[in-house]
Amino acid sequence: MKKNQIPHQIILPASELPKQWYNVRADMPNLPAPYLSPRTHKEVTAEELGAIFPKSLIEQELTTERYIDIPKEVMEKYELFRSTPMHRAYELEKALGTPARIYYKYEGTNPSGSHKLNSAVPQAYFNKIEGIKRLTTETGAGQWGTALSMATKMFDMECTVYMVKVSYQQKPYRRSIMQMYGAGVIPSPSDQTQVGRGILAKMPDTNGSLGDAIAEAVEDAASHSDTNYALGSVLNHVILHQSVIGLEAKKQMEMVDEYPDIVIGCNGGGSNFSGIAFPFLKDTFDGKEHAKFIAVEAEACPKLTKGVFTYDYGDSAGMAPITMMYSLGHSFHPSGIHAGGLRYHGDSPLLSQLYHDGFIEAAAVGQKEVFEAALLFAQTEAIVPAPESSHAICQAIKEANKCKESGEEKVILFNLSGNGYFDMTAYDMYLSGKIGDGIPGLEEEIARAQGEIKDLGL
Ligand SMILES: *Cc1c(COP(=O)(O)O)cnc(C)c1O
Repeated sequence: MKKNQIPHQIILPASELPKQWYNVRADMPNLPAPYLSPRTHKEVTAEELGAIFPKSLIEQELTTERYIDIPKEVMEKYELFRSTPMHRAYELEKALGTPARIYYKYEGTNPSGSHKLNSAVPQAYFNKIEGIKRLTTETGAGQWGTALSMATKMFDMECTVYMVKVSYQQKPYRRSIMQMYGAGVIPSPSDQTQVGRGILAKMPDTNGSLGDAIAEAVEDAASHSDTNYALGSVLNHVILHQSVIGLEAKKQMEMVDEYPDIVIGCNGGGSNFSGIAFPFLKDTFDGKEHAKFIAVEAEACPKLTKGVFTYDYGDSAGMAPITMMYSLGHSFHPSGIHAGGLRYHGDSPLLSQLYHDGFIEAAAVGQKEVFEAALLFAQTEAIVPAPESSHAICQAIKEANKCKESGEEKVILFNLSGNGYFDMTAYDMYLSGKIGDGIPGLEEEIARAQGEIKDLGL
């Protein structure tokens, strides 16, 4: 096929949908260090994890089997919104005047608006078949809460979402959509849990934080036998489920006889980046191909580029397992950043290990250049991208501009992890000139939060 005759949209036939997930643990040279219990600081036991997760997901967390069958019941739900299209970004290429060929995989086509539904569906299913009636979770920006509300409804389960109070107040439509899908949405901190009541007693006027909301969701799950907790990123089983993105993308690239030189994804907890990257990384492990992989983070929350590889708490409340990862420190507070999904202080242990071992590169981009990239993308490719995803767009544009200088015809593939139609407040601020660059106090905040990791003595 001539490279200028490749269709704008490359659609995978339904018969070609992946029927198994790809597990990178089968192929990575060094497995991540084990999780530690936040209570004992010893290796976490299956029993501790069993208080909040079903057996099948704990198994997926630890297995080194290369391919895991996607259950028929999950396939049926995937077929409601998968495959997702791959686009050749002709209009963006033209606007940039680059000889590079740019492709993007668009995960924002499903009704929840992001890739998170890829893991919400199997998480609901595996809990359901083990007799769990209700799932709890936290949400900040709202994408994960929306996806889990939808997925639990698909399997006739209940869902309780602890939503950071400030988001609950500022994002009423996100709250409404979760309620439309039948979820109970509780502003956190709340009087429904012991930990919430404790926080309210001390700080009655607090806006809440993701750490508080996690602590509430975990307590709720751990104290009800028919209830479990679900997490939307970071953990191995989430990254396993997200491999459908890259498995489809590989087939779509094959359909037009292409292979990416560069694979790019934005990086919050690592799930959408790993989802698109790991199936291609398998070719690197097999010695067949050597793409470059770039995980793109926000300059305001630079865990890979400025964090340390260490054991740290997964959450600010110190309730979640302690993991070996790149971290800025569990008490790190990212300042003024409008991509809510990229505010996490740490990263997936799998992605962290692979970055540590040199298989993956990282880049950090500034908020202003991200919004500029988002606007150019909207005006050329016609999709309003999520601010998170726009970090990947921004890096793709930088790579395409390098090709313009060097004259190289590289193939660039990035993951467009979601759409931005619920993020109009952020775009409104950008358009009215209220989003700038520069992050005052960042270095001091990183130093402070990293000092606290050292104090843990792990
Ligand atoms: C949650 C979210 C992210 C960040 O999470 P990852 O686990 O790093 O993928 C990125 N993009 C969108 C649209 C999200 O909703």
